[in-house]
Amino acid sequence: MASLVLRGANVVDGTGAGPVREGVIAVEGERIAQVGGRPPTGVELDLGGLTVVPGLIDAHAHLTLVDLADLSGRRTPVAVTAARIFHVCDVALDSGFTTVRDAGGADGGLADATRLGLVRGPRILPSGPILCQSGGHGDLRDPFDHHGRDEGLPGLVQASMRIDGADSARLAAREVFRRGATQLKVAVSGGVVSSTDRIEDVQLTVEELRAVVAEAQARETYVLAHAHNVGGIRNGLAAGVRSFEHASLLDEDTAHAIAAAGAYVVPTLAVLHLMELEWQEWGLPEAVLPRLEGLEDAMSRSVKLAAAAGVPLGSGSDLLGPEQRHRGMELTLKSRLLGPMEALVSATRTNAELLERADDIGTITEGKLADLVAFDGDPLQDPELFDQPERIVLVVQSGKVVKDLRA
Ligand SMILES: [Zn+2]
Repeated sequence: MASLVLRGANVVDGTGAGPVREGVIAVEGERIAQVGGRPPTGVELDLGGLTVVPGLIDAHAHLTLVDLADLSGRRTPVAVTAARIFHVCDVALDSGFTTVRDAGGADGGLADATRLGLVRGPRILPSGPILCQSGGHGDLRDPFDHHGRDEGLPGLVQASMRIDGADSARLAAREVFRRGATQLKVAVSGGVVSSTDRIEDVQLTVEELRAVVAEAQARETYVLAHAHNVGGIRNGLAAGVRSFEHASLLDEDTAHAIAAAGAYVVPTLAVLHLMELEWQEWGLPEAVLPRLEGLEDAMSRSVKLAAAAGVPLGSGSDLLGPEQRHRGMELTLKSRLLGPMEALVSATRTNAELLERADDIGTITEGKLADLVAFDGDPLQDPELFDQPERIVLVVQSGKVVKDLRA
């Protein structure tokens, strides 16, 4: 007997196949036991009129970067910072995201808290602190601040760790794994949220990157890189980096090189769209605004270039701040560039492959974890729904109903 039987919904399984009308999904324990066919007996959920998709995956989250003006957590009570972080986790789950890869900041301790069910939120794959060079993207010090203030709050959040030289890179990589990271994040270019570099700057050497990649491979995992420009991406490819984040200033040759290497690009459209509106709430200085200029258009062009070159595209929101309400906006914006099916597949099947978790998540397939999301309406017809959590009426995570707004 099944523990849950979902009936009546249009089912879009995340593989790229079209919707199946009145699909049947049976769940046993935490996994999907049956898709299609005659419904077995069990607790029935009648989902007539709804559209069911796989649990969404955000491959570029910053669940713990809730206040950019106080990243070291020195001016805010730890309890307040923790409460804000838990709130962000809660909102992510209500927005249909059952798994996130944290792309810098989250400690293994946060992943444990959600895994143990103590904090309501997505399954978290933490990258720990971002490994960055002195003066590069992630170095939090003001230009004339000689005191390091990037130690963070152990067990909860640390935004970055500086590395200079291959030995220092190796030491930091080992330290980040010790704290529970499931993969490593580096910064190979300047960034928008940076105070002492330019987006065009190339950061870290191939030698430093190779040391980080070697440590990741020794743990049978991989490295993702904050990378706006092609110089940083080329160095990352030479070192074996698997996942290039942002890639906003891509060119055609580099797109083909990424495809040939079997690497991925994770565009982050939502953050560029929202930063202009929410920078104050996120704790950012006004100085970020000129750095944003033209970047969303450049990234949109790069997304199309990468898609045309056959680069697998993941999906990442890169949201910051204390609320992080628009995680699904990434899919809405990508729908405008590549269509809603491609946006959905990038946030489900492709993200699962990118995260090396395709055996467990990403599609509605027998044997995978039962992570399921039901929309009141059809996001393939109306992609604005991806960014309307109130229209997500049911969320199932590992076979458990974790949100149910059905009347
Ligand atoms: Zn980021």
